[in-house]
Amino acid sequence: MVVPYKHEPFTDFTVQKNADAFNEGLKLVQAYLGKDYDLLIGGERISTDDKIVSTNPANKEEVIGRVSKANQELAEKAMQAADKAFESWRKVKPEVRADVLFRAAAIVRRRKHEFSALLVKEAGKPWNEADADTAEAIDFMEYYARQMLKLKDGAPVESRPGEYNRYSYIPLGVGVIISPWNFPFAIMAGTTVAAIVTGNTVLLKPASTTPIVAAKFVEVMEEAGLPAGVLNFVPGSGAEVGDYLVDHPRTRFISFTGSRDVGLRINERASKLNDGQIWLKRVIAEMGGKDTIVVDKEGDVELAAKSIVSSAFGFSGQKCSACSRAVIVKDVYDQVVDRVIELTNKLTLGETTTQETFMGPVIDQSAFNKIMEYIEIGKNEGKLVAGGEGDDSKGYFIKPTVFADVAADARIMKEEIFGPVVALSKAEDFDHALEIANNTEYGLTGAVITNNRAHIEQAREDFHVGNLYFNRGCTGAIVGYQPFGGFNMSGTDSKAGGPDYLVLHMQAKTTSETL
Ligand code: GLU
Repeated sequence: MVVPYKHEPFTDFTVQKNADAFNEGLKLVQAYLGKDYDLLIGGERISTDDKIVSTNPANKEEVIGRVSKANQELAEKAMQAADKAFESWRKVKPEVRADVLFRAAAIVRRRKHEFSALLVKEAGKPWNEADADTAEAIDFMEYYARQMLKLKDGAPVESRPGEYNRYSYIPLGVGVIISPWNFPFAIMAGTTVAAIVTGNTVLLKPASTTPIVAAKFVEVMEEAGLPAGVLNFVPGSGAEVGDYLVDHPRTRFISFTGSRDVGLRINERASKLNDGQIWLKRVIAEMGGKDTIVVDKEGDVELAAKSIVSSAFGFSGQKCSACSRAVIVKDVYDQVVDRVIELTNKLTLGETTTQETFMGPVIDQSAFNKIMEYIEIGKNEGKLVAGGEGDDSKGYFIKPTVFADVAADARIMKEEIFGPVVALSKAEDFDHALEIANNTEYGLTGAVITNNRAHIEQAREDFHVGNLYFNRGCTGAIVGYQPFGGFNMSGTDSKAGGPDYLVLHMQAKTTSETL
């Protein structure tokens, strides 16, 4: 009997023993920096001359590792391996597939701080954010394994006298997993294992800025007993390998997390029928956000300011759930703005080698440039009241930045910046605040700070986002507790970590026997 699911607890680093254990993890990772990692295709390790070099965004000179880079020929080889492995993997009992995930979760749990330390180095995460990323990866494995056990016998249907009907879920085929760098462990592992536990085989193309944690995870899956060919590791460029795999006639589905523009491109390409293709490809897409915290006049000012600051600047605002704008009802506007400025000015920025540093770098040069451009745009659209400066000499550091008095239709109120920048805007009343909150093409997360029950109910109905939170920040959804995914340009509302997620990777088959 499997114990009931419970999410992996976060580590309390104020306890010395835990901080020591994390430092051990950092030492371990430090000792293996700079190594080479192979592709994995049909169980075979393949090394290429062409490499993706992963560096530390806090210290550009530090090489985290070098990963072999797939080209179209190797992508084709991987597709054939996955296609072949599908014939046997689809018949492996769901319980056995779930066991691989349980074992993999146990392995990661034993090496938890090593994985988190790697996220500190490869993604520039602060300790608590790295710890949460690893915890979420464990949660996805534990949760999806249990979900598969629930779905293994299908869903109930009726039978008339003299017949026996069954309704079962069967896998789809080969899936292409294109994962992001911002949750380089949790979302990479979660999207991969969801596809695998449901009986599909996959080609994993991780983000090029964070391929090492993916390579380490692939090793864990092998150690957990996953047969050759079920998980193929094919890092490579989006233009060469990504497009090739998305277009491939044997690709049955694509599970993508990343930007709006790449998501749209994938969706469009996936809709074209290619030679030899006999199905409509399925696309599971988790895209951007422009997430809002609404502060009502009957809201707790301190809670509002803390929620805005932590949701805007946690992991340098590089979450699609990040609070990139706050809409504050005029009665409490000045108080909230003042407190947001005070709290922001207290935040520490730097390489996250100790647990004290609140914020690390942004991921790479192009992110740095884009965010700095938005800061320039913001200077014309609002009043810069905190931060505003960046320094990319050693790593990609940008100060937590706040713009006040921003108009509802300003660019920094509508476009996704994906960095440590928040715009504050004043609303006449609660209705007006909700109207502004709904004025983007996205619909991912949102929060409302209020003690007015009627306003909570109003927001529940009218605030059009996939994840709506009351009296807390808008980041940090927990697997199995707050299924995560959004509306409109935020994606297909696939609700990762939720009860409907696995079914997206399967198709239902009805069988009816006359007795
Ligand atoms: N699930 C994360 C959260 O709730 C965000 C995921 C993302 O940024 O892609 O904060």
